[in-house]
Amino acid sequence: MEAVTTLKGVGPKMAENLQKLDIHCLQDLLFHLPSQYQDRTKIHEIGSLRGGQNVLVEGTVEHTEVVFRGRRMMISRISDETGSLVLRFFFFGGGQKSALSVGTRVRCFGEIRQSLHQIEMIHPEYTIINDYAPLKLDDTLSAIYPATKGLQQRTIRRLMGEALKILVEITDYLPLAIRQRKKMPPLADAIRSIHTPDAESSQALLNAFHPAIKRLAFEELLAHQLSLRQFRLQSLKLTGIAMPSKDKHISALKASLPFSLTGAQQRVIEEIQKDLRLASPMSRLVQGDVGSGKTLVAAAAALHAIEAGYQVALMAPTEILAEQHLKCFQEWFKPLGLTVGSLTGKQKAAERRDQNERAALGMSNLVVGTHALFQNDVVFAKLGLIIIDEQHRFGVGQRLALRDKGAGKLGYPHQLIMTATPIPRTLAMTAYADMDYSVIDELPPGRTPIKTVVIANERRDEIVQRIHGVCASGAQVYWVCTLIEESETLQCENAEQTLEMLQEQLPNIAIGLVHGRMSGADKQEVMRQFKSAELSLLVATTVIEVGVDVPNASLMIIENAERLGLAQLHQLRGRVGRGAAASSCVLMYQSPLSKTARKRLDALRNSNDGFEIAKIDLEIRGPGEVFGTRQTGELQFQIADLSRDEAMLHDVQETADLLLTEYPETIQPLIKRWIRQAAVFIQA
Ligand code: ADP
Ligand code: MG
Repeated sequence: MEAVTTLKGVGPKMAENLQKLDIHCLQDLLFHLPSQYQDRTKIHEIGSLRGGQNVLVEGTVEHTEVVFRGRRMMISRISDETGSLVLRFFFFGGGQKSALSVGTRVRCFGEIRQSLHQIEMIHPEYTIINDYAPLKLDDTLSAIYPATKGLQQRTIRRLMGEALKILVEITDYLPLAIRQRKKMPPLADAIRSIHTPDAESSQALLNAFHPAIKRLAFEELLAHQLSLRQFRLQSLKLTGIAMPSKDKHISALKASLPFSLTGAQQRVIEEIQKDLRLASPMSRLVQGDVGSGKTLVAAAAALHAIEAGYQVALMAPTEILAEQHLKCFQEWFKPLGLTVGSLTGKQKAAERRDQNERAALGMSNLVVGTHALFQNDVVFAKLGLIIIDEQHRFGVGQRLALRDKGAGKLGYPHQLIMTATPIPRTLAMTAYADMDYSVIDELPPGRTPIKTVVIANERRDEIVQRIHGVCASGAQVYWVCTLIEESETLQCENAEQTLEMLQEQLPNIAIGLVHGRMSGADKQEVMRQFKSAELSLLVATTVIEVGVDVPNASLMIIENAERLGLAQLHQLRGRVGRGAAASSCVLMYQSPLSKTARKRLDALRNSNDGFEIAKIDLEIRGPGEVFGTRQTGELQFQIADLSRDEAMLHDVQETADLLLTEYPETIQPLIKRWIRQAAVFIQA
């Protein structure tokens, strides 16, 4: 649509100010929604007013005076037949005092404040009424817009008025048949009723259950869905690598395990294998709660690719996890005659060179690593599958980069992404609509739910006693030190102090320490000692948040739990409850607890289900934070709200399917209308 400068009175300076509100074209202006409405359509009886209401009233001045009550002010009392109201002004001129003389009729608009004996308005807008020119009432509510410096409410309203005049020209890309079936108003009507609503609609509009808002939110979500689907359709056309397999390796791995796979693991592995056999690149997201056994699913996928003759890259978010995976995969793969290499940021130059060479010559069947895996100097001879484990967030931009990263003469490698933060299904299908999706919805048998308690810091001594008992019984304990917002150095110092204190209080217990400032080798050594139960208690910073697997650990203490987010706490807690023994988690907090913090800790105490917890997290924090998209602008909607509009997501997906098959011509315009970064995926 046209630039805002086509409107009367919008010069370069004002255009610049409008840009601060993210308004560039006429459409942006029309989609700049009111944050509030004021009702000047009717006059209220003074006797009926309550504090907090914003209302229009009319009355006769009974009394006006200037007084000192701590400061100079003008007070005027007006009344109608039903009651009286005080108008209070801190800034006024002499002319104002004489204008509000006894007997004058005035009309005022403002917020009612209730004080002990009276109701009042502070600095109301007011107009003197004279019988010759009666004042008209508004026909519609007045919208109040988010404004910015240099751009007043009045100006925005005037511009909006101009824009609404040419609104009829806006094209409605939603096909009529769909709109009628869903009983949605035409786009122009929806926009108009949001900006100039009738008096009855304001609550419905503000709470977003008005059909006009729903219509816009739906269209926005639809556009978002379409853009991801389109990205996916393009990916499907890329040349991938068809991988046949007779499951020789997978069967051998299964036979070597002391347990059998859960039904859910089995099912998800089959879903992945089906993709791997196809000649278009897989892009699959696997969700599973903490402890659901994602690592084995990754291992099976890797074995399929390796049997077909390809290499696999497995990326973990932390060094500790990469190291653990390296050990674990070596144990599983060596007996099958396969080689596992590793690439992390902290390797010595010589070792790094050696590992790079093995990858480049195809000598490593699997390479496990951190982000270092994707550095430019890393080359694989025959990369066929990329697995990303325990990924918290994975934006479209990153997905795009990953897709292009692996492209070689063989084609595009398959991609498997394992999430660390499960989210409800409909949301996953919205945020990751460009990917296929599997859920491991079952925990291995024999797990006892983790018992979570919330305890104030003052009861630390009791907790130390409890650790003593747990260690004496042969089980192991994590003590997690947290200090967010502070520097990593402070975090590590804090962990060191905690270690000293615990050593003093628990002299007979072997205690280790792991934090982010230790060298890779030191970290490895401590983790090895803990895993082999040489250490009974591990003091750690949040470096152990994801992936760490020591099934004999059955108690976790988290200090200052109120400072961490829900998803993070759930992940941390997932380090226990991995064996058959009953496990517990103690969330310590510094009182007093804020209301939100209390809500978070209660949510954890009441549930062990990551999907459930994610839902609550979304309600408390909102999608921008949960998906980590606040900075990138991704999944940030202008009108829609993922938690509020969750109920329409399914419908959005169905409609996207319908448009893709029956109304392909609507797709580009819809995407372009709603998605700023659309260009990025369209070109991709
Ligand atoms: P996730 O990565 O999903 O949090 P892991 O893959 O680390 O979970 O597995 C958690 C623990 O459960 C590990 O100790 C693993 O060996 C064990 N495990 C995995 N699958 C099974 C199964 N089918 N039966 C019993 N134990 C299992
Ligand atoms: Mg894992």
